[in-house]
Amino acid sequence: MFDIYDDLIKIIPAENVAKDVYMTGFTSFKIGGPADYMVSVSNSSELSSLIKYLKENKVAFMILGNGSNILVSDKGYRGVMIRLGGDFRSVVIEGNKVIAGAGVTLMALTKEVLNASLSGLEFAYGIPGSVGGAVYMNAGAYGGEMKDVITSVEVLDEEGNVVTIEAKDMDFGYRTSICKRRDIVVLKANMELVPGSHDEIEAKMEEHMKARKDKQPYNMPSAGSTFKRPEGYFAGKLITDSGLSGYQVGQAQVSVKHNGFVVNLSGATASDVAKLIKDVKEKVYSSQGVMLEEEVIYVGEFE
Ligand SMILES: Cc1cc2nc3c(=O)[nH]c(=O)nc-3n(C[C@H](O)[C@H](O)[C@H](O)COP(=O)(O)OP(=O)(O)OC[C@H]3O[C@@H](n4cnc5c(N)ncnc54)[C@H](O)[C@@H]3O)c2cc1C
Repeated sequence: MFDIYDDLIKIIPAENVAKDVYMTGFTSFKIGGPADYMVSVSNSSELSSLIKYLKENKVAFMILGNGSNILVSDKGYRGVMIRLGGDFRSVVIEGNKVIAGAGVTLMALTKEVLNASLSGLEFAYGIPGSVGGAVYMNAGAYGGEMKDVITSVEVLDEEGNVVTIEAKDMDFGYRTSICKRRDIVVLKANMELVPGSHDEIEAKMEEHMKARKDKQPYNMPSAGSTFKRPEGYFAGKLITDSGLSGYQVGQAQVSVKHNGFVVNLSGATASDVAKLIKDVKEKVYSSQGVMLEEEVIYVGEFE
């Protein structure tokens, strides 16, 4: 890719622009070759100027959340990874209403709303994503989903305008939203919660965390559930029933603790994970007749 560093630092302060950044440090899988550039933007106007420049110059870009649902190629990413810092990390709570910047982590957000004794986001405690990534994915767990609490989402649209999309128009579905179809950036999420008892909210959050730690390889590098839940089945059980618990390609393994997770034992490559996923899909299909579909998102070039 041609060198755009000098152009980038005219738009973004130089300390927020880096070249050739290995994605191992920015993904929960701890996998991924170098992104040509990584840029951290502090507000909507920086973001909008940056995207305008990148589109005009036909430079690929991607918004990076907390990197907890992506598998980045060993060859890295030919383009600019954009992180949302500064203003995008703010949370404002007014009564039952919460306005969360897209760069806020769900861990930080759930703790802030707990301090305000607001209930409704307990399900999200323990999901290691950002608000932006959680809106994009309509993240959910333990019977709750982002769509249950979101009233509207502020986005930067394809034309570079800041617009508000009402929740009903977000096309939220199982691990999907309108963001998957449209080239929009989530800037902030407006949510409505309900007043609750601090102790009860905290107890529920702790119960969810305990369940995660008991049942999932929570502290091993992974991207969470590798596959979506097929209608009428559980991906983990299909994988278990196909005899694939512990199945390994290189250092990538079907977690023995939860067969729905692929873990990086130590130094796994993206190719190891991609091959393992391909094998699991083929074997589950031939033995159970169900074609699994990835929840994890591939970034960069894969064969
Ligand atoms: C141990 C573990 C447990 C997990 N448990 C759960 C769970 O219980 N439930 C669940 O749903 N998921 C779970 N996940 C998966 C993951 O945490 C969620 O999908 C999360 O919402 C991803 O958010 P992120 O910020 O990490 O997004 P990333 O992985 O960084 O990005 C995912 C996608 O969102 C896009 N994106 C990110 N931010 C924005 C933005 N501001 N605007 C537009 N697009 C954006 C990215 O471009 C990318 O396409 C788990 C993952 C791990 C590692």
